[in-house]
Amino acid sequence: MGAEHPECPERLAAITSYLADTGLGQHLDWVRPDEATRDQLQTVHPERYLNQLDLMQPTRGRVYTDPDTAMMPDTLRAARLAAGANIEAVDMVLSSQLTNAFVCARPPGHHAERSKSMGFCFYNNIALAAMRALNFHQLERVAIIDFDVHQGNGTVDIVGGDERILMCSSFQHPFYPHSHVHRQAENIINTPIQAGTPAAEYRKIVEAAWLKRLQDFRPQLVLVSAGFDGHRLDPMAELNLEVEDYRWLTEMITSVASDHANDRVISTLEGGYHLRALAESVNAHLEVLNAIH
Ligand SMILES: [Zn+2]
Repeated sequence: MGAEHPECPERLAAITSYLADTGLGQHLDWVRPDEATRDQLQTVHPERYLNQLDLMQPTRGRVYTDPDTAMMPDTLRAARLAAGANIEAVDMVLSSQLTNAFVCARPPGHHAERSKSMGFCFYNNIALAAMRALNFHQLERVAIIDFDVHQGNGTVDIVGGDERILMCSSFQHPFYPHSHVHRQAENIINTPIQAGTPAAEYRKIVEAAWLKRLQDFRPQLVLVSAGFDGHRLDPMAELNLEVEDYRWLTEMITSVASDHANDRVISTLEGGYHLRALAESVNAHLEVLNAIH
């Protein structure tokens, strides 16, 4: 995205090198994805939008699709790989090759609306995963849990009103992206959190808002938009979560998956911009997921 941009390649390097340091990386199955196909992208995004992105893609240098979001010559290929990784994760988990998966890829996806790229996102990875599970694998109920510090406006735009999906979303409010926060849809649980809220309070709010609804919904698969930018040290936001809070969130998610979804969880990386906090939080997230086999 350019020098000094927080959505940088070092994010993934920080995660993989920390997983090597802790030893957890050796216990994981690493899979290199294929690019999502045009047909797969069209399960979420209209052809016009996909054409527009293709036309904007520069052959050199950088163009901006919004003030925060830049495209370089290989950006869309990277975005197709990230999207393809999500689809492949769904295929592997729903064919019982894996119990759960974490998509360690960028660019992220949850700000990408049906026809709008924004907030460092081009294709909505988690919505593509949901459509793969529902349309291709013919599941009936999929939950999406989005704990990124920013609201997943793109996901709300795409899945709002789709009763096959229950989306639970916590986010700092008022805050970016300032859209879709007041969108009323039966299947969207928006859980706004004030800047500065203590982590213990965050846990209480989220558990009260989500847990019973998730249990009643009985998802057959749990998808996670895993953004770690609510960490106390994150430079982009003002929540106070710590590594142990991400462990707690992951345990709540796996308990729902254990009750209803044969433990099936697919988590995809969204935000998280303090490199050390990101790496430690992902490690805790994966420790919980990896304990289930
Ligand atoms: Zn975020």
